[in-house]
Amino acid sequence: MSSRILTDFDLLVPETVPEALEMLNRLQDQVTVVSGGTDVLVAMKFGFDTPYGMSLAKLAGLNYLEFDPQQGLRVGARTTITQLLESPEVKQYYPAIWESAVNFATPQIRNTATLVGNLLRASPAGDGSCAVYALGGKLVFSNEAGEREVDIDDLWVGYATTARNKDELATELRIPIPAANSINAFKRMTRVNEDLAKLNVAVNLTMDGNVCTDARVAMGCVAATPVRLRQTEDLLKGAEINEESLKSLMATVSAEITPIDDQRSTAEYRKQVSGVMVKRAIEQARDRVTA
Ligand SMILES: Cc1cc2nc3c(=O)[nH]c(=O)nc-3n(C[C@H](O)[C@H](O)[C@H](O)COP(=O)(O)OP(=O)(O)OC[C@H]3O[C@@H](n4cnc5c(N)ncnc54)[C@H](O)[C@@H]3O)c2cc1C
Repeated sequence: MSSRILTDFDLLVPETVPEALEMLNRLQDQVTVVSGGTDVLVAMKFGFDTPYGMSLAKLAGLNYLEFDPQQGLRVGARTTITQLLESPEVKQYYPAIWESAVNFATPQIRNTATLVGNLLRASPAGDGSCAVYALGGKLVFSNEAGEREVDIDDLWVGYATTARNKDELATELRIPIPAANSINAFKRMTRVNEDLAKLNVAVNLTMDGNVCTDARVAMGCVAATPVRLRQTEDLLKGAEINEESLKSLMATVSAEITPIDDQRSTAEYRKQVSGVMVKRAIEQARDRVTA
C-alpha cells in the first residue's frame, strides 16, 4: 500500500458544538476528531484507518485566545500556534509557550496546527505539551451531558493515549496566571529546525530573590509521554540558583529519565544532554528577568 494515499472515510462537518457532541455521542470511537489535521492526516497517509473523520473547521466559536490578569489564559480548541506567537500576553506572561511556538515547525504548519491538538496527540515530543506541562493547567472536555476539567498532570495516560472519553470533545485549555515572581522558559534540540524535537524542556520557577521556592520542570522525548522531573523539582525548591547548584542538578536530571533510541537520537545522547538543557532553560528564564 502506498504511504501517500488516504484510506476511505466519511467526513463529518458539524457547524456547532452541540452538533459535534451529538455526532460523538452517536458514533463514539468510530469518529476521529480532525482539528488542524497536521497529525491526523499524516497518520492516515501511513495507514491509520477511521470510519469517520470529524472536521472542526466550521466551529468558529472555538477559535479564541483570551487573557485575564486574574484568571489567566483561555485557549479555544481551534486556536493555532500562529495565534499564540502573535499574542503579546502569551509572550509576556507565558514565554515558555511563546518560545515553543517560535520553534514550532514551519509557518504553514503553525497556521493550521492547534495547541489543543498538540496536547491530544499525546506525543512525548510535543513542544506545546511540554511548555503547558511546566506551567500547569486544565483541559476542558465537553459531551452532551456537560463538561469536565482534566488537570494537565492527569491528561497523558500512555503513548498517544489521553484521559479523553470517546464521546468527548476538548473545547478549551485553561492556564493559570503565573505566580508573582515566577519565571518560565522552553528550550528544544532538533536535527533541523523543521523537525520534531529530539529533546525538549520547559521550566516554571517561583523565585524569592535568587532562591527558588517552587518549581515545575517538564521534559519531552525521554519517556512514552511528556514527563515532570519530580526529583529535580524537589532539588530546586529551597535552593539558591547559582552555577554550583545548577551543576549538581544536572546529574539528577539525567538519572530521572528513561529515554530510548529512535530515528532522532540515542538514549545515551539524551541522557548526556538532558541536564544541560534544564540548566540552559533555567538560565534563559533568569536572564530574561535580569535583562
Ligand atoms: C511537517 C510537520 C512538522 C511538525 N512540527 C512539529 C513541531 O515542531 N512541534 C510539535 O510539537 N509538533 C509538530 N508537528 C506535529 C503537529 O503539527 C502538532 O502536534 C499539532 O499541534 C497538532 O495539532 P492539530 O490541530 O493539527 O491536531 P490534529 O492532527 O487535528 O489532531 C491531533 C490529535 O488530537 C485529537 N484532537 C485534536 N483536537 C481535538 C479536540 N478538540 N477534541 C478531541 N480530540 C482532538 C485528534 O483526534 C488527534 O488524535 C509537526 C507536524 C508536521 C506534519
